[in-house]
Amino acid sequence: MPERCSVCQQKFDIEPGFYWGAMYVAYMLSSGVLLATAGISILVFKMPVFYLWFALGFVGLLFLPYIARLARSIWIHIFVSYRD
Ligand SMILES: [Zn+2]
Repeated sequence: MPERCSVCQQKFDIEPGFYWGAMYVAYMLSSGVLLATAGISILVFKMPVFYLWFALGFVGLLFLPYIARLARSIWIHIFVSYRD
């Protein structure tokens, strides 16, 4: 993660522990992704529950880097206002 925004020089690491709250955002996002995966797996593919756990693990790991970054982005947008 860069130290500052390349456009407006906003410092990303505002204070120690600032991104702890992004975990709640990541929880919300990953819940949506995993619920959608479970729904599609069960309703469309008629997947047995035993294999569903592997599918959820795979999709969870697949989306982890994207969700972590998106959650941090959403979190900083909640607290830092900016003009473009
Ligand atoms: Zn910026």
